[in-house]
Amino acid sequence: MPQAVDVLAIAAHRDDVEQTCGGTLLRMRARGARTAILDLTQGEAGTRGSAAERAAEAAAAAEILGVAHREALDLPDGNVENTYENRVKIVRVLRALRPRVVILPYWTGRHPDHYRSSTLGYEACFLSGLARLATTDDTGSAQQPHRPFKILYASLYADVRPSFVVDITPYIEQRHRALMAYTSQYAEQAAGSGLFVPEQEIRDRTFAEARHYGLLAGVGYGEPFVQKEIGLVDDLLQIPVQSI
Ligand SMILES: [Zn+2]
Repeated sequence: MPQAVDVLAIAAHRDDVEQTCGGTLLRMRARGARTAILDLTQGEAGTRGSAAERAAEAAAAAEILGVAHREALDLPDGNVENTYENRVKIVRVLRALRPRVVILPYWTGRHPDHYRSSTLGYEACFLSGLARLATTDDTGSAQQPHRPFKILYASLYADVRPSFVVDITPYIEQRHRALMAYTSQYAEQAAGSGLFVPEQEIRDRTFAEARHYGLLAGVGYGEPFVQKEIGLVDDLLQIPVQSI
């Protein structure tokens, strides 16, 4: 059974986390936190590459991101649904990894898998704290309830103002390398080239997005997050981001 982690990023598809919060996972790891990724689908609906190829790519990306654990559930790619069965699958992972912080996709968006994963993940976090829901781990042992302390929403692809930005300036190149580990999706190739953009374009787009959010916070590159709770300040003199 995997060891407990501090931060768990949950997303619909392999390579989602790399795009929305990979720099944040690198930053947290540099601060000594244990990080993990849960992909809800295995990528079998992709135009290029099999689910097996994508599993190998996801493992390579996980190594670059320095996560302690990565796994994929078997929800159907392109048809992620918020069912009780799916919630319980996530509960079993939450109870095994026991994260303090869970990062979910933002709750609106273009791709139904993304916004459904958001609600599905939130409800799984709630359910995971209920003692009356009995679950077992892979060895058949009973699991203890666990509710994450903090839920954050990675809002890179949402047209919303973030609650805060994480400075990923030192990790932007490494994040890019993690995304490029998905060679079946992003390497220069002819098959499906009408659907897939070349690496230079991916680099330009992802760096521009990170630069945009970085500028909002007065740093080089950033990743945006929304939290539903209010912020709490301890010391007015330590609040970052200059006003004028
Ligand atoms: Zn996706």
